[in-house]
Amino acid sequence: MTSIISRGGWGARPPRSRATCAWTGRTLWVHHSDGPAPSDSRASEIATVRGIQAFHQGPQRGWADIGYAFLVAPSGRVYEGRGVQVWAAHCPGHNDEPSVCLMGTYDATPPSEAAREAVWWLADHLGMTDLNGHRQGTATSCPGDATMRTLVDAPRPPKTSQEDPSPVLPHGASLRLHLRTLGEERAGKGGRAWAGWGECAGALRWIARHGLAPTTTAAISWRGDTWRGPRDVTNVAKNLTTRYL
Ligand SMILES: [Zn+2]
Repeated sequence: MTSIISRGGWGARPPRSRATCAWTGRTLWVHHSDGPAPSDSRASEIATVRGIQAFHQGPQRGWADIGYAFLVAPSGRVYEGRGVQVWAAHCPGHNDEPSVCLMGTYDATPPSEAAREAVWWLADHLGMTDLNGHRQGTATSCPGDATMRTLVDAPRPPKTSQEDPSPVLPHGASLRLHLRTLGEERAGKGGRAWAGWGECAGALRWIARHGLAPTTTAAISWRGDTWRGPRDVTNVAKNLTTRYL
């Protein structure tokens, strides 16, 4: 079972700044680090991820944080980069879309089978259905010819295991939803509030299916971020429903 090694797990330095966004598309962007691949040890992978973060935050790039939302090692282990629905720095014009970086250089040598499987596992986990290579968004050789040939442009391999593809609810995620319809407002009623996955699931599914009226006062908080307004709350509800429910 694949799991994601959190920022705490690899000792990430804090971001200099952080802005959230709502991922609305269904495409996961694929990169390679264009540097040395780690060995299969966790220590080597952690050193690689930390090195990429240091490079991205350093004088050459000067970014707020590591550029990508996630990274994948040749072992198939997945590392959290900027994370879910955080503005990234991976491809101009697409920084409000999810991204994954294969650690290593894959111009001639294809990424390992474990890494390719992990990218598709991550796509499922994030509710994404398609892969794009970085070069499809801007002029670059990234993510390498071999990645394009064996992963991005290759047919999706059939699922080999019987593992439930629906991901576990993220731990430590505090989820709160608050709605007040125009009718309630006119009737002088307060809004309705839900907290936690157990209470929110039904409301999220309903919002994802029907959308919220533009006159509804709405707010949703998840993992310490809050989105307000019917449009953003509908988008977040769709994303959470696709990904976790
Ligand atoms: Zn790239």
